[in-house]
Amino acid sequence: MLGSLRSIVQEVNAARDLPAVLEIIVRRVREVMHTRVCSVYLRDKQSGNYVLMATRGLNQDAVGQVHLAPGEGLVGNVVTREEPINLEQAEAHPAYQYFPATGEERFSAFLGTPIIHHRTVLGVLVVQQAEKRRFDEGEEAFLVTLSAQLAGVIAHAEATGALATIGQQRREAKFSGIAASPGVAIGRVHIVAPQANLATVPYSCCIDVDAELELFHQALASARTEIRDAGERLKGELNREERALFDAYISMLDDNSLAVEVCDRIRQQVSAPRAWAEVMLEHVRRFEAMSDSYFRDRAADVRDLGARVLMHLRQQQQSRRDYSENTILIGEELTAAVLAEVPREKLIGAVSVKGSANSHVAIIARAMGLPAVMGVQDLPYETIDGAEIVVDGYRGELHVHPGPELKRRYDSIVAEERELARNLDHLAGLPAETADGHRVRLWVNTGLMADVVRSLERGAEGVGLYRTEVPFLLRDRFPSEEEQREIYREQLQAFAPRPVTMRTLDIGGDKALAYFPIEETNPFLGWRGIRVTLDHPEIFLAQVRAMMKASVGLDNLRIMLPMISGLGELEAARKLVERAYRELVEEGYDIAMPPLGIMIEVPSAVYQVRELAEHADFISVGSNDLTQYLLAVDRNNSRVASIYHALHPAVLHALQEIVRVGHAANTKVGICGELAGDPGGALLLLAMGYDVLSMNATNLPRVKATLRAVRKADTEKLLQQVLGQQYPEEIEQTVRAYLKRIGLKALLQPAGQ
Ligand code: PEP
Ligand code: MG
Repeated sequence: MLGSLRSIVQEVNAARDLPAVLEIIVRRVREVMHTRVCSVYLRDKQSGNYVLMATRGLNQDAVGQVHLAPGEGLVGNVVTREEPINLEQAEAHPAYQYFPATGEERFSAFLGTPIIHHRTVLGVLVVQQAEKRRFDEGEEAFLVTLSAQLAGVIAHAEATGALATIGQQRREAKFSGIAASPGVAIGRVHIVAPQANLATVPYSCCIDVDAELELFHQALASARTEIRDAGERLKGELNREERALFDAYISMLDDNSLAVEVCDRIRQQVSAPRAWAEVMLEHVRRFEAMSDSYFRDRAADVRDLGARVLMHLRQQQQSRRDYSENTILIGEELTAAVLAEVPREKLIGAVSVKGSANSHVAIIARAMGLPAVMGVQDLPYETIDGAEIVVDGYRGELHVHPGPELKRRYDSIVAEERELARNLDHLAGLPAETADGHRVRLWVNTGLMADVVRSLERGAEGVGLYRTEVPFLLRDRFPSEEEQREIYREQLQAFAPRPVTMRTLDIGGDKALAYFPIEETNPFLGWRGIRVTLDHPEIFLAQVRAMMKASVGLDNLRIMLPMISGLGELEAARKLVERAYRELVEEGYDIAMPPLGIMIEVPSAVYQVRELAEHADFISVGSNDLTQYLLAVDRNNSRVASIYHALHPAVLHALQEIVRVGHAANTKVGICGELAGDPGGALLLLAMGYDVLSMNATNLPRVKATLRAVRKADTEKLLQQVLGQQYPEEIEQTVRAYLKRIGLKALLQPAGQ
């Protein structure tokens, strides 16, 4: 059964569109399960009814004619119960409904399973038999497994179908994801080259056949050169068999019949990547079906060769493209380095199919003031290159091919945003002080050079977190000590005499350096942050030396250690920092030993705050990671994004405990996670007594306006109220209602949102 399951899913994945997907399902399932009937019903978004969309075994005329509301008939009952219904004699069931158009009276046994995607019943998969018999457990389990696997494919195909053009008219289509960075952008899609996987190249047409043929021939030529060069380079190291493999690759690429097959499809207006993928997958299948194991093993080689050429096709496509004036970058998994490739003045929005609001790329987008939506899992992004699109970073929505009415609405939101930003401008010179005279230090998180100017314009009083990994991420090798010194000097100088907190290299998790790959099955629990740098003292020492050298004559450097999970790591790091300091002094540098602080972002550190605070000069909570580790929710995974709550009661209690114990040890306590930049979160942190709130420059004016509008004494009451609440949603609701009551709702989102 597993083999059948895999082959059905594979075939479905390669289908052109939704009708083709459904056709494959009904044909293959009927065949594999030896049933008389297999049908698929899908939910019609407008009416909410379930419509017979494809069948083998029922009258074809019934397709599109049979509609069932949830709860109506057996299919409707599968929908409301959200579980399979398995009946020996369907017509004896009280919910049974007879539809003459289907010719259904001939069938007795019925098994229907729901197709569920993101908790929504997309449809129902049904098999039927003429005789009276109950489908056995194995059959039921097979259909349930298949439905679960098909749900994502059907959702994707539906989404692609929603974008299909009706004649010349482009259809407006909406997609939902996670709101990752506020703001609205209206621009043109620029797709970041996706991975070279033959099985996931979606069907797309080409308009200019000649250009597409040329693209294909160029990609083929580049792949040929690449393989030949690699073969030459490795000549001495390869045995005869391995050399033969290179020759086989070259001769496959030289084989004219392969190119002819692909060109034929391109002439039928199939895009070059898709035409190539279709042809290569057919060859892969042919090899896989061979009885001789030698030839079966060659299937992997053909797949590999196919992926290589596909990669060249993608690169050729990319190199032909310029960025438009209003680029909206869309990719399977955007990274900070990819964002940095687009000239800043042309980039106006970002969308990622994977990832979540707390992924690092989302944090960078917020720092850049770039509207962003993450985790748009069903977006058939490869089909919308160049399309016009609206990114709604408030609601986490995208509108592809927006019509005039929608564009007008969003244009007015953009205008309102500008107005709001202008209204906040005057705050830059005013103190961050509550209405009852309590001062809070509002600092900024930086990483990019562009942050510096924005931060100073907005009245930042210091840097609470300089993410040193950002300049590391934007290079193709480790920056040297001198290069680092220059980068750090710019930061320290720009903010002097204000303090600048530089965090030592925090890589691992979702922050990967292309030149220092860390491959792990569980990266967030793996080799991350301080763990990497303590294992590589040469990297750590070069970095802290560069920081200290950069601080000569400025004296505004603070060094901070990420991901501390116990006292031993702090002690080991302190030894290295002190050693670097001593050596620099011996070398003649006139510098002061900078304060050394730690981030509290691992649960173990919460329970050791007292000991850690006694040994550190300051502490700062990394609430992004602390939330992820306390709730065991991967901050980068959109599937679990709905249970990642920075205002979860457990997180709030931990935050309060950290500041209480930190203060008892006479240590200043700050926070530099995203919660500090959220107006509601900032109120609770103020009430808890946090000394420093550090956030991105974009949010700083909003938070300052919020703090200036409240009395600390009132926020303490709010804190007591929410600390008594049990559910994150309830807490979020209470905080939102409070902001609304004091007239601050307009600060959070433009009206009409
Ligand atoms: C955090 O974890 O809250 C933090 C500030 O660090 P980063 O987001 O860079 O992991
Ligand atoms: Mg962190």
